[in-house]
Amino acid sequence: MHYAKKRFGQNFLIDNSVINNIVDSINPQAQDLMIEIGPGLGAMTKPLLSRLDKLNVIELDRDIIPKLINNCIFSDATNKDKLIVNEIDVLKFDFKVFHSNENSGKSSAEMKDLRIVGNLPYNISTPVLFHLLHYRNIIQDMHFMLQKEVVDRIVSAPGNKSYGRLSIMLQTFCTTQALFEVPPYAFEPAPKVNSAILRLQPSFQFDKKIHDFVQYEKLVREAFSQRRKTLKNTLKNICTVTQIEQAGLSPSQRAEELSVSDFVNLHDVIFH
Ligand code: SAH
Repeated sequence: MHYAKKRFGQNFLIDNSVINNIVDSINPQAQDLMIEIGPGLGAMTKPLLSRLDKLNVIELDRDIIPKLINNCIFSDATNKDKLIVNEIDVLKFDFKVFHSNENSGKSSAEMKDLRIVGNLPYNISTPVLFHLLHYRNIIQDMHFMLQKEVVDRIVSAPGNKSYGRLSIMLQTFCTTQALFEVPPYAFEPAPKVNSAILRLQPSFQFDKKIHDFVQYEKLVREAFSQRRKTLKNTLKNICTVTQIEQAGLSPSQRAEELSVSDFVNLHDVIFH
């Protein structure tokens, strides 16, 4: 018996039809270079392993790791050699080093990018997403279980209440897609909120105009710091009224009226 630890955001999936839907959406191919974040007791790990030649997992809770390994081996003894456990905080895991180690000695045709999946601990989901944005060049795609409210914010378009910093940041660097909702009773213990599956595919359409990730992040954060205020007010420490106009925007607009490409253009005008 493993008692769920609150501080690790542990809510274990128990509904097999939900688990199968997630794994089907991920559509693992045997040779994929897949990493699961927060495998827990292995609810997703086991069905993923059955479709993969190998699977790396990143798990912070050292007490749960022996149970994870046992569960995976119990369902199929060959999983012993397929499952690679990295005992570390995902925020400290260097995906770049991992990617180059896995690809070392391979021709460019054989090189593989990362497929990252996980039922993320909800208390660290935003930091994890931002951490992974830095590695987007070496990522094929990502599938995450998140709070539904967070998924709504990520995929939201201008004009919606949920449109904001998260929508802009994720949509600048990825194609975002909300796949389906997952109710609280699919987990043990049941969380208080609804969950949803998010698909992210890195996209590079704006890369030429993003000159400094940290400054871009700051621009978006400041613009949304007071939703009701105009750009002229919220951005007064970041850019001039002239720069706002050069980007084709009006200083009397509010952040929530700007599209992703509006933000990218404004950043480009300020930092090119
Ligand atoms: N995937 C499992 C467990 C989800 S609960 C399932 O769906 O049933 C979230 C998991 O993330 C737990 O196993 C928890 O220990 C792990 N975790 C929490 N914080 C983490 C961190 N910073 N880095 C890596 N794993 C973490």
